[in-house]
Amino acid sequence: MASATLEIDLDAVIANWRALDRMSGPGVDTGAVVKADAYGLGAGPVALALARAGARRFFVAQAEEGAALRKTLGPGPEISVFSGHMAGDAAMMAQAELTPMLNSVEQLTRHFEALPGHSFGVQLDTGMNRLGMESAEWEAVAGIVLAAGPSLLMSHLACSDDPSDPMNPEQLHEFIRLTEDTGVPRSLSATGGILLGPDYHFEVTRPGIGLHGCAPYQAGQQAVRLSLPVVQWRDVAAGERVGYANGFVADQPTRIATVAAGYADGLPRTLSGRATLWDGDTPCPLVGRVSMDLITVDVSHLPEVPEALDILGPMQGADDLAAVGGTIGYEILTGLGARYARRYYGGQP
Ligand SMILES: *Cc1c(COP(=O)(O)O)cnc(C)c1O
Repeated sequence: MASATLEIDLDAVIANWRALDRMSGPGVDTGAVVKADAYGLGAGPVALALARAGARRFFVAQAEEGAALRKTLGPGPEISVFSGHMAGDAAMMAQAELTPMLNSVEQLTRHFEALPGHSFGVQLDTGMNRLGMESAEWEAVAGIVLAAGPSLLMSHLACSDDPSDPMNPEQLHEFIRLTEDTGVPRSLSATGGILLGPDYHFEVTRPGIGLHGCAPYQAGQQAVRLSLPVVQWRDVAAGERVGYANGFVADQPTRIATVAAGYADGLPRTLSGRATLWDGDTPCPLVGRVSMDLITVDVSHLPEVPEALDILGPMQGADDLAAVGGTIGYEILTGLGARYARRYYGGQP
């Protein structure tokens, strides 16, 4: 079998959620962001495990993700949609009982016309200029909106991974200005905001990446191990070339293992000639170019060629690999390809 195995430790995900929940303190409802298939790990199994552990509020980016999640979770937990109510979403919103986070007066009008009485929240822009109503827009409609009983008022921090960034208190004060005395539950913080402290927590938090033990929550537990099968190996002599564009030229006799994963599986080409794979705790350098389905690895120093090499695991987390490839842990996780066989363990509270 040439398909690699992605092991997902649901106990680690639950432990991370609980730790973030404890950080948020009593009276704060800790949600779970499971957009993009729970950051590549599988929204169904991850959300089910978290629901069993006590999570009651889930967040996704798009209505379609919410509808799939509702099938998994069944009735009960709240599923909120960051992109709000888009044209064509009404039937799905109604059927799957999704709660759109309305981002504009246009979305508000669409929602009130299509689904009067249906749950909704409002997303406010506090300076990131990506999603949400502008303050003037909000001030014009706040009275009508509040009378309709929103379930949540939320905004999103642009720089929360850097606690010293002055943008954080700026957005905090703007959020308070726009939402105080509304009596509606409020949410400002993703993982980074939770770590900024209680001023940022309000009534609901929205951790995503922190559930998987990645930056900015490096204190969390790593939840994934990705083990790539060795398809073939060969000994090359000094001067022989390996891979596309002769990306590696052996300067001495070298044993090369050809390993089954490439950029189509989410290994960035920027890892070419730079990344490290692991046989247990022994590092093995990736040599030459990352190609679509395969990479080549120098295993000359191993007593025998193993059946598989780890690229994510205890020796190297998603953030470590991201640093080598010039990206972030989020992109490594969400890029984890559809060809991997996902295997789950743990997850029973
Ligand atoms: C993705 C996202 C989150 C989760 O962010 P993390 O940094 O992964 O914790 C929370 N809120 C919004 C609006 C998001 O888009």
